[in-house]
Amino acid sequence: MTSAVSPTVSRVLKGSLCSGCGLCASLSDGAIRMDDASSGFLRPRQVGALNRNAEAVIADACPGAVVAPWPEAPHSHPVWGPWRKIATGHATDEQVRFKGSSGGAVSALLIHALRSGQVDRVVHVAADPDDPPGNIVTVSRSEAEIIRGAGSRYASSSPLADIEAALAEGGAFAFVGKPCDVSALRRLALHDPRVDKCVPLMLSFFCGGVPGRKGVRSILAVMGLKEEELASFRYRGHGWPGDAVAVARDGRTEKMSYADSWGVHLTREVQFRCKICPDAVGGVADVSCADAWYGDERGYPVFEDQPGRSLVLARTIAGERLLEAAVLAGVLAAAPVGLDEVGGMQAWQAIRKGLVRARQITLALMMQPKPRSRGTRLRDASRSVSKRLALWNVVGMARRVLAGRR
Ligand SMILES: Cc1cc2nc3c(=O)[nH]c(=O)nc-3n(C[C@H](O)[C@H](O)[C@H](O)COP(=O)(O)OP(=O)(O)OC[C@H]3O[C@@H](n4cnc5c(N)ncnc54)[C@H](O)[C@@H]3O)c2cc1C
Ligand code: SF4
Ligand code: SF4
Repeated sequence: MTSAVSPTVSRVLKGSLCSGCGLCASLSDGAIRMDDASSGFLRPRQVGALNRNAEAVIADACPGAVVAPWPEAPHSHPVWGPWRKIATGHATDEQVRFKGSSGGAVSALLIHALRSGQVDRVVHVAADPDDPPGNIVTVSRSEAEIIRGAGSRYASSSPLADIEAALAEGGAFAFVGKPCDVSALRRLALHDPRVDKCVPLMLSFFCGGVPGRKGVRSILAVMGLKEEELASFRYRGHGWPGDAVAVARDGRTEKMSYADSWGVHLTREVQFRCKICPDAVGGVADVSCADAWYGDERGYPVFEDQPGRSLVLARTIAGERLLEAAVLAGVLAAAPVGLDEVGGMQAWQAIRKGLVRARQITLALMMQPKPRSRGTRLRDASRSVSKRLALWNVVGMARRVLAGRR
């Protein structure tokens, strides 16, 4: 049985709830393709009839439709999610620490998982050599390849676009994706037993949202460069946080600070789905990493370049074991920190999570679709923001819907 148009994908696209994960394309047997839409975000486009079984799985796993609930853990916080161990630290290999986005913790954990034989490869994201500001899914089978994929890519990514092929290959691989990507993979596991067998490790990071192409174009305009001239584009890394660096094919190199690239140009182009994200901290990953920002005397993060430092939250038994083993093997230097310190490093994420309930309720009242978000503690998190700010966000979201701005 086939369905001409996927009702889930149509509804999700209509409501601007697509995060671009690529799961629907991977499950569609060629009926859906991920395209670089005019919005500058990777989006599904249906080109053939979809099998009903695939539609049923997509309806239950697409992060635009449903978000995986946080698992039980010894500790859980409404904003920071479930956790077993929290630490700050960095890769002990100076190259990994330098090239990594924060302290290279994700790459160090991946390297340890590969070295110890727990996985035989890593499915993650790297810069597209044919389109330097864009991303491709890559399969790393060596430490050098993992390091090549280090760093944050503030552009649309579809890490699940080839997940069917990765599962069909067998073996054991680690998966790295945005929190919404990991949510989709956890939901897929409810339908496909190969996921739990083949993916012993799912890693993620705190996510401030994915900006569209307009963001990078705005950076390049200030730099005086065009996309088609680029030989490479790095959003950050090579130091912490590191500059955005564009290199043209004729060798011209332009830089922009993280405070300007993310703070001015990229953040204002973040996709709509991110504004109502119920889990932007990777609560369903085995390990989730973030910037362990130092704060100034007013508590604002300091973006002056310094040796990288990651925040690492081990959430599951598998994640805790990986963290402990990587430290024991000397691949990762990590010191425990209290939950109270996390708020100081990531103050903005707390406000953001606190406002999601108000925004989602507004959508529901206006008969707009929203992702099912049960089990992500939205109500508890909303208590940490003032009623005035929540009300302001209700008005803002209502105006946005009425104006058709998604
Ligand atoms: C879109 C985006 C938004 C972010 N927002 C925040 C935030 O608000 N607060 C915060 O603390 N941290 C945020 N981060 C995460 C942060 O930048 C670091 O990635 C995180 O601290 C891990 O650093 P690391 O040095 O341990 O990782 P690294 O060792 O550098 O490894 C990073 C890993 O992430 C993967 N990756 C990079 N970009 C993408 C992408 N677009 N999609 C899927 N996988 C990707 C790479 O393949 C690599 O394996 C964001 C990252 C991204 C990509
Ligand atoms: S969020 Fe993922 S599964 Fe859902 S429509 Fe977008 S690409 Fe497809
Ligand atoms: S903010 Fe949420 S929806 Fe947006 S990319 Fe990050 S995890 Fe996905």
